[in-house]
Amino acid sequence: MKKILLVEDNAANRKLIHDHLRRAGYEVNAFDNAEDAIACAVAGGLDLVVMDIQLPGTDGLAATRKLRAHPQTSELPILAVTAHAMRGDERRILDAGCDGYVSKPVAYKEFLFRVEQLLTAGRPGSTRA
Ligand code: MN
Repeated sequence: MKKILLVEDNAANRKLIHDHLRRAGYEVNAFDNAEDAIACAVAGGLDLVVMDIQLPGTDGLAATRKLRAHPQTSELPILAVTAHAMRGDERRILDAGCDGYVSKPVAYKEFLFRVEQLLTAGRPGSTRA
């Protein structure tokens, strides 16, 4: 079973995303903050990260840069979830090292398609199967 790390500080959104992923057949480790999530990711065994961008403390962009900088997680696919819809945010999100993003409110059919796509194909440009 594919294992997904979910980072989302909003409890209602976290439960909703968690439940959708579980129903789609994924194992989910959910955290409300980036620090604990990074520690979990570095410990290994994950296939994908779903990363909220707006988080208290370390935000999703900073967390993504940390994961990219760590050898254990540098190739881990990261799908961002963001309430930002402002011009320039897509660039900032991709520049930080995310492989794509979906906007809130999350459209779950598209969201699960993107998850499946990243799990199947891996990171764009990655040599990982
Ligand atoms: Mn948030």
